[in-house]
Amino acid sequence: MGTSHPPGVESDKSTLDTSPRQVKECLHDLYVEPRNNLYKWSKITEQTAQVRLAYPGEHLACIITGVKGSGSAARGDDLSDGTEVKACSRADQLSECRNCGEKVLVWQEECPTCGSEDINIKTDSHWIFSIRDEKELNLYLDKIPRLLLLMFDRESTDVDEVRLRAWQVDPDQWYYRAFVRDYWENNFLEKANPAPLNLHPEKYDFYMMEPELVFHATLDIEDDEVSIEHWDFENTKKPSMPTRYPNKTQVENLFSDDELLRRVKNDIPRNQWDEFLYQNNRNKLKNLSKSQYVELFPTIPDEKRDKLEMKDKTTREYKEEYRRRD
Ligand SMILES: [Zn+2]
Repeated sequence: MGTSHPPGVESDKSTLDTSPRQVKECLHDLYVEPRNNLYKWSKITEQTAQVRLAYPGEHLACIITGVKGSGSAARGDDLSDGTEVKACSRADQLSECRNCGEKVLVWQEECPTCGSEDINIKTDSHWIFSIRDEKELNLYLDKIPRLLLLMFDRESTDVDEVRLRAWQVDPDQWYYRAFVRDYWENNFLEKANPAPLNLHPEKYDFYMMEPELVFHATLDIEDDEVSIEHWDFENTKKPSMPTRYPNKTQVENLFSDDELLRRVKNDIPRNQWDEFLYQNNRNKLKNLSKSQYVELFPTIPDEKRDKLEMKDKTTREYKEEYRRRD
């Protein structure tokens, strides 16, 4: 467990020796404490308690990677080795009342407007890439040696513990490149007021980029304890694509009838075969539904992932918030 410097970078004044103790201290100082203070004041002022993450994310990125910052807050130069850092938090988002549609603060268990307890806890925060000219495009395609993605979230909405995970993406990876180019060609250049490029954690595009999990810590906010579950740049984990994310046609094209048949006969109890196989011909599959594919193969075997292509994007055009630079 520990940090490693990117290949070819010797330990020097741009690197940091970091330790689990230091990571825990950093998370405490820059996330747990500010979050608890924001919660405290949010209860008094009824303002949002969302922790603004850009700069704490960059400190954490340094401690996790062992690479210092570049000494400025300039975009595109987040770490001194050129690593670009993106952070988002799904742990403290503003929620919404399902009954009346009003905003509900993260610590409120019922809607302050109508009293309903039917709260839609929002967890849709994502990483945002601002690409507004060719220089920024080239930065993402050819300049950065690594993309580091940080996310704070909870395993589920009824879990109190917050987790921080970090993944690294190789900018030479084919899907990452296609994803950035597709945005530039089919959105930025085509639309009058294009929204920035959004990358949604743990969805289709994310898995296609073959992100490597390099860090995972669990934060017990109440007891103010941080435990590090995984921190390793040598033995990274590449999460597999869950089969529910590609569409049905894509999934159908990935698996042969033989593979599916084998899976049915090996993994499905005999008394449930009727749902998959014809009663009078046990060697023939019925037309499987998407959920049956997911049942047979919960994740896409990694060697099949490269056969998947980019899904058509439906990106919105922004009206006010985001304008193209003149
Ligand atoms: Zn309400």
